Amino acid sequence: MNKVSVMQEIDYITDTYCVDCPIINDLRQKRGKPGAHKFCIESCTVGEQLQFLGRELMKVNNK
Ligand code: SF4
Repeated sequence: MNKVSVMQEIDYITDTYCVDCPIINDLRQKRGKPGAHKFCIESCTVGEQLQFLGRELMKVNNK
């Protein structure tokens, strides 16, 4: 994957799933931002995919 395609994929995923995510909005109110962020990282498959793409971006940036 090149840098542009990784960034486009990240944008697409966040726009599609994260921008209006009802789970994160609910968790922010109940657990605060750090708790909600923790859920994204540890318990959401979308968050898992974003982390994967973030690592891919680091790899292409370091080439
Ligand atoms: S990573 Fe998952 S829980 Fe977090 S905002 Fe995106 S879709 Fe919602």
